Amino acid sequence: MKLIHDHSAPDDAARRRAVPPVICYPVEGLARPDMAPFRAARAGWTKVAEVLVPARKARCFAVGAGQFFRITSVEGPQVGDLNLWSAVDLRERFYSGKTRALHGTHLSTGDRMWSSFPFLRPMAVITDDTLDWYGFDDFGGAVHDVIGTRCDPYTHNLLSGGGQYHHCCHSNLTRALADWTGLPLREAEGHVHDVLNVFMCTGFTRDTGQYFMKASPVRPGDYLEFFAEIDLVGGLSACPGGDCSAEHSSDAARCHPLLVEVFEPVAPPAGWVAPVVNGYDRTHGR
Ligand SMILES: [Zn+2]
Repeated sequence: MKLIHDHSAPDDAARRRAVPPVICYPVEGLARPDMAPFRAARAGWTKVAEVLVPARKARCFAVGAGQFFRITSVEGPQVGDLNLWSAVDLRERFYSGKTRALHGTHLSTGDRMWSSFPFLRPMAVITDDTLDWYGFDDFGGAVHDVIGTRCDPYTHNLLSGGGQYHHCCHSNLTRALADWTGLPLREAEGHVHDVLNVFMCTGFTRDTGQYFMKASPVRPGDYLEFFAEIDLVGGLSACPGGDCSAEHSSDAARCHPLLVEVFEPVAPPAGWVAPVVNGYDRTHGR
């Protein structure tokens, strides 16, 4: 946390600190999607599936390439942990770290969810976000992060002195994927990955750089909407932290369900082309 300094600062410390930052991945190099065709494609769409994710549980759902899906807050403020896999190959899964490097710490409309190596292609694009008004608050907090991982029983065990808690998002997603695929629990667990924290309000403290959470501004009726660019299996956990205003990995927080709806448009968005896998030849210099 950089609170202990064993070494004194050099004479030119101020000058070194004053060097302005450079954006690692200027997104000008990525064609940002024109959102108008996605918005237009919603006219006359048909709802083809609906899954209600119960509080402190997870559910999987299928979304075909060219379909939309929407995660909606119902009943009360609730945070969701989202995993995405390719429906044809579970090894292709959402890559939270690279998505963060490309789009920043928190996602909103126009940002894409990228898949793992060697695929590295857009799995979905966010097409609407009713919480986009929130921006960054005075604490540096914002909604829908790709900086947290998912609450899990191992970290809980570590920090609680040996506690066993089974309804963390990691375990919820593990059970849901095992149920969906028929895989044994331990095999399914290996496919669970770092999430998009839907509706969660998070940031890093300015003084210590620690990951923080605060009560989500989400209210019933708010939603985050996606367009699937490849055939997907989604996994969504209604986090045991509820709105994450106090704690997670416990049964103390008030928790609510989350609604997932899948929509089939009349026609694909004009100009949309399904993404192919990444073009790197994988010879790695050999
Ligand atoms: Zn969680």
